[in-house]
Amino acid sequence: MPIIFCNIGWMKNYNGISGDSIERGGKYNEHSTGHEVCNFTNINGNVYGYVQPVGRSIKIEKIGASKQDDKIDGVDVVWTAGPESGGTVVVGWYKDATVYRDLQSIENQNSKQKRNGVSSYRIKASWANAVLLPVEKRDLIIPRAVKGGIGQSNVWFADKQESQEIVNRTMALIKGESLDLPDIDFNRTIEEGNPRLVAHLRRERNPSIIKKKKDSVLKATGKLRCEVCSFDFKDFYGKIGEGFCEVHHLQPLSKADGIVETKLSDLAVICSNCHRIIHRLDPMPSIDKLSKKLAKNV
Ligand SMILES: [Zn+2]
Ligand SMILES: [Zn+2]
Repeated sequence: MPIIFCNIGWMKNYNGISGDSIERGGKYNEHSTGHEVCNFTNINGNVYGYVQPVGRSIKIEKIGASKQDDKIDGVDVVWTAGPESGGTVVVGWYKDATVYRDLQSIENQNSKQKRNGVSSYRIKASWANAVLLPVEKRDLIIPRAVKGGIGQSNVWFADKQESQEIVNRTMALIKGESLDLPDIDFNRTIEEGNPRLVAHLRRERNPSIIKKKKDSVLKATGKLRCEVCSFDFKDFYGKIGEGFCEVHHLQPLSKADGIVETKLSDLAVICSNCHRIIHRLDPMPSIDKLSKKLAKNV
């Protein structure tokens, strides 16, 4: 099935502006809120999606239509957006959608569309095929302005070889293959929408990379000592603490947007307390900085 990525303003519900807000987008209708404010409004069993392309039309020949076609059916449309705080993530999708080359007028606006000044759309799908992720589940980062990532345009065809990895990860998300993020002490920030933090946590909670890191540190030092405060779970708790530590990814959040692979040298062994503190601070401090701060306080 052909796929396109459409970047829009950041909202919680995309079901009218009332009780919601829009960040980094939305200036194309009479109320300056953006036609995408109703992208997930159920209108007689359908959804009507809006995105602002460069120029007048969406080049649907790039996803298999002929030059004469005015629309193409059977497209997976992936909606992306990012909050003011940064990062662009997948916020939802329409499966099996119809993408129109040109702007379509909504003939019978419903009351919500009227209230929001939404009079046109570019993509249509069955409401049953539309999935909007809750804010805390929006953690698939789409790198922007890097090779293989989405560029300045809001409509992206992901047709370059370098983009295949992003397409694959998006397809896995749509198919429901992605992991839920367990145990979390950061709920407050995540609910406010911090896709980079969620992506960071997911990256450092990969069980196989954690095991590799622990094995290599144990082999080299015989201990799993916190690199910030030197706490050692085995020393403190005895046998029940043996082999326990957390692993922290050293890459600062924004710099890691496009990075897929984690190297052992990107990781640090850290105790649970230091790990929580590191992620409370924005920007995230280096291990070294936090250790120095700690040394000053004792
Ligand atoms: Zn520590
Ligand atoms: Zn961490």
